[in-house]
Amino acid sequence: MSKKYVYFFGEGKAEGNSKMKNLLGGKGANLAEMTNLDIPVPPGFTITTEACIYYYQHKGKYPKGMKEEIDRNLKRLEKAMGAGFGDKYNPLLVSVRSGARVSMPGMMDTILNLGLNDETIKGLIEAMGHERFAWDSYRRLIQMFAHVVMGMESDEFEELIEGKKKELGIKLDTELNTSALKDLVGKFKKRVRERTKKDFPQDPRRQLFMAIDAVFGSWNTQRAITYRKLHNLSHTWGTAANVQTMVFGNMGRDSGTGVAFTRDPATGEKKFFGEYLLNAQGEDVVAGIRTPKKISKLAREMPGVYRELVRIYKKLEKHYRDIQDLEFTIQKKRLFLLQTRTGKRTAQAALKIAVDMVKEKLISKKEAILRVEPNQLDQLLHRRIDPKARIKVIAKGLAASPGAAVGEVVFTADHAQEEAERGRKVVLVRQETSPEDIHGMAAAQGILTSRGGLTSHAAVVARGMGKCCVAGCEAIDVDYNRKRFVVGDIVVKERDYISLNGNTGEVISGRVPTIEPALSKEFQILMKWADEARRLGVRTNADTPKDVRKARELGAEGIGLTRTEHMFFGEKRLPIVQEMILTRDAKTRERALKKLLPMQRKDFKGIFKAMEGFPVTIRLLDPPLHEFLPRIEELLVEIATLKAKKGSKKRIAQKEKLLNKIEALKEMNPMLGHRGCRLGITTPEIYRMQSQAIFEAACELSKEGYKVIPEVMIPLVGHINELKFTQEDVHRVAKEVMKRKKVKVDYTVGTMIELPRACITADEIAEEADFFSFGTNDLTQTVFGFSRDDIEGKFLPVYLEKGILKNNPFAVLDQRGVGELVEMAVRKGRRVKKNLKIGICGEHGGEPSSVEFCHRIGLDYVSCSPYRVPIARLAAAHAALKSRKV
Ligand code: PEP
Ligand code: MG
Repeated sequence: MSKKYVYFFGEGKAEGNSKMKNLLGGKGANLAEMTNLDIPVPPGFTITTEACIYYYQHKGKYPKGMKEEIDRNLKRLEKAMGAGFGDKYNPLLVSVRSGARVSMPGMMDTILNLGLNDETIKGLIEAMGHERFAWDSYRRLIQMFAHVVMGMESDEFEELIEGKKKELGIKLDTELNTSALKDLVGKFKKRVRERTKKDFPQDPRRQLFMAIDAVFGSWNTQRAITYRKLHNLSHTWGTAANVQTMVFGNMGRDSGTGVAFTRDPATGEKKFFGEYLLNAQGEDVVAGIRTPKKISKLAREMPGVYRELVRIYKKLEKHYRDIQDLEFTIQKKRLFLLQTRTGKRTAQAALKIAVDMVKEKLISKKEAILRVEPNQLDQLLHRRIDPKARIKVIAKGLAASPGAAVGEVVFTADHAQEEAERGRKVVLVRQETSPEDIHGMAAAQGILTSRGGLTSHAAVVARGMGKCCVAGCEAIDVDYNRKRFVVGDIVVKERDYISLNGNTGEVISGRVPTIEPALSKEFQILMKWADEARRLGVRTNADTPKDVRKARELGAEGIGLTRTEHMFFGEKRLPIVQEMILTRDAKTRERALKKLLPMQRKDFKGIFKAMEGFPVTIRLLDPPLHEFLPRIEELLVEIATLKAKKGSKKRIAQKEKLLNKIEALKEMNPMLGHRGCRLGITTPEIYRMQSQAIFEAACELSKEGYKVIPEVMIPLVGHINELKFTQEDVHRVAKEVMKRKKVKVDYTVGTMIELPRACITADEIAEEADFFSFGTNDLTQTVFGFSRDDIEGKFLPVYLEKGILKNNPFAVLDQRGVGELVEMAVRKGRRVKKNLKIGICGEHGGEPSSVEFCHRIGLDYVSCSPYRVPIARLAAAHAALKSRKV
C-alpha cells in the first residue's frame, strides 16, 4: 500500500488526532482532535509534513498518489458540505494555511476564499444574498493570492485601493461599495497580468495546488530559516498544509464570529470570557472597527448557539486540561470552532489557574508547578505601569531591573537624596553609576543610564534594591553641565517628570499611573509546592539588613554574596577609605582602618541578625581602588577652576598632590588590575580589618544567643597561593578574636571561582578552600574576553541581531563555553573534596535556564538578588521535575 499523505477532519471520526503533531502540524492535529471530540469544525483535510519533505527532496514534485489523494478528499469535502469546488451555482470555498509542529512566525499567511472566480462569484452572491460581500471576498482572494503565491507586493494593491478611495472621496475600506469593488477586481487582475505576465488562475483546482506549493515553499523562506536557526528548530521537519472549508460569519444577523477564553486570562478567574460580533468576519473583531459584545450577551441573542458554545468550551478545557483560547464562527445559526489553543495568560492568572486546576483535580501539583514560567513571576514582584495607561515612549534602553518608576529628573546622587529627603519622587539619570552613587540610587524611584549593560553597576545594584532601572539607553545624551538630557529633538530638563518601565526598557515622557504588586494566596501555595520539589538551595545576594529581610520574606535560605565594597561608601566612610588608600605610611593606614572597624562590625551584625540561622557568605573587598577615589576629570576641572579664581596656593597644591596619586593608581584595565585578593595581598591590613569585624560581630551575637554561620570568601583567586596567603590571615584573626571573646563560632573560608585559571586548577584550590562560589559575571568576562561594562551598549546588540549570539552571556549563562569550565571546576573540586559545598553568585543565579544548568551539574545552591529569589525557587523546582521526567 502506498503511503498516506492526506488526512481528513471535520466529519465523523477524524483520521488524525492531537498526538500526530509531527505529521499533521499543530493546527491540523488540533482540528482532528476537535473532530474526535465531536466538536463542530469546518471540514477539511491536512496534507502531511512528510509530503512537504518529499516535495523538497524531489525538487518540487509530489509523492506518488498524493494528487489523487487530494482529489478524493476534495470529493469527500464537497459531499460533506453539499457544495462543489468550482460549482457556479453552489460553490465550495476553502482556505489554505501552513502549520508546522510548533507555531512559527515567518511562515505563510492564510489564503482565504480559494475557489472563487468570475463564474463562481455569482453562486456566492446567490448563497450570501449579499453582493458587496462577495466582491470584497473576491478582491481579497486576488490580493492574497498574488502576494503569497505569485510573489507580488501587497502595496501594489493597497495603492489601487487608495486610488479608488481618493476617486470616491472616502476614507475607509468599508465605505467601498459593490461597484467600486467590482471595478477593483478588474484592476487587480490587470495588475497581476502586467506584473507577472500571467493571469490570476480561474481554475479553482489550479488555485488550490498553487496555494499548496506556496505553503510548502514558505517553509524555506529566509524569514522562516532565520527563525528556526534562532530557536534551534530543525530544518528537516517540514510544514503541513491545511485545506479547510470557509465558513462565513457575515451572512446576516443569524451569523457572527468571536474569540473566547475558557477562563479570564488576566486574573485567572474561572468564568467564560470572550467577545463576539454578529454579521461580521473574524478580522472585524480583531481590527476593532466595531466594538464587540461580551460573550454573556450571546446567551440572549442566540440561546441555542450559546448553550452549544458553553458545552464545547467546558469539554475542550477538560480535555486539554488547560485554559483554551477559542475562535468560533456562526454561519446561519450553525456554530463552528475554527481553532483552539493553549491560552496566553498573565503571571497572576497563571498562578491562579494552576492552583485552581489542582483543586479541581484536573492536573497534578507537578504539572501546576511546570505551568508557571519562572520569569513571569517578575511581573508580580514589582510595581508596574498600569497596562491601561496611554504612554509616550521617548527612548528605549536595556530592561535592567524590572518595575516602574515615576519621578522628577535629577542628575546627581546628592541631588536625588536631597529631593527625596524633602519628600519628592525622583528618577536619577546618569551616564553611568558608580559605588559612590549608592545613596542617590537608594533615594530615587528608579535609575536611567545612557551607558553600561545588564551587569553594569547601575543594573546590579538596582536589581539588588528591587528598584526599577533602564540601563545603556544610548539614545539619550546626558549633559550634566546643562542639567538636561536630549533624545532626538526632545529635551528633558532637571525637574521634568519622566517614567521608566524596567520590564521593557522604555523611557516614557511625563507621569504615568502605576499599580502595586500584590502577592496572592495562590503565589504562596505554588511556591510551597515548588520548595517541596526542588533540590537546589536558593540564597540571596544582599548587602544591607533591609535587603536581607526582603530576601528572607521571599524565601531565601542564606546569603550567597555580601559585597562589602558597598559598605565603604557614604559621607562618613569614603574620606576614611580614601585616606587609607592614598597613604604610604602604615601608621596612617592603620588609623584609618581602626575608624572603619566598628562601622563594619555594625554592618555585619545587622546582616547576621537578619539572616539568623542561615549561612552568610561575606566577600572581602573586591573592586579596584580607583572606584573609591575622585574621578581624574573632575579633579582636573576643580584645579583649573581654583587656578582661574586664584584660589589658595596651598589648596591647589593639595589637589595636585591628590591628582598625582590618583594618576599613579590609574590602570588601563582596572577590572583585570589591582583588585580582589591582589589587594588583600598588597595591603593585607584591609582583609585583616574586615575579618576582625566579621568575627567580632559573629562572636558578640553568638554570646547573645543568635545562631550565626559566617562564610568568609576571597575574591578573584587564580592561583592557589593567593588563597593560601590571604586565608592564613583570616584564620589567624578568627582564632585571636574567639580567644579574646571567649566564644567559639563555626565558620568556613572559601573562594570565588571567577577566573579561567581557577577553574583549571580547581583541584589544587579545593585542597585549601572550604567552599567554591562561581562568580559567573567575571568568569563570563574573562572567558569571552568581553568587558562587562562596555559590550552591552556597543556591539552586543549587533551580535544578537545578527544571530552571532543567541543571548546576552551576562544574563543567560553560556553553557557551552563558560558552563564547560564551571562543570570542569566542579568535577575537579569534588574529586579532591567529595562534599565540597559549591554555589553560584553571579547574576546568572536568578536566571531560569542557568538555574537549570546549576541543578544539572550538581551545585548546592544558587544565589541571586532578593527579588529574583522566587524566580530561582521556581526554576529550581522546574529543573528537578524535568530531570526526574528524563
Ligand atoms: C561575579 O563576578 O560573578 C560576582 C558575583 O562578583 P562581582 O559581580 O561583584 O564582580
Ligand atoms: Mg566578580
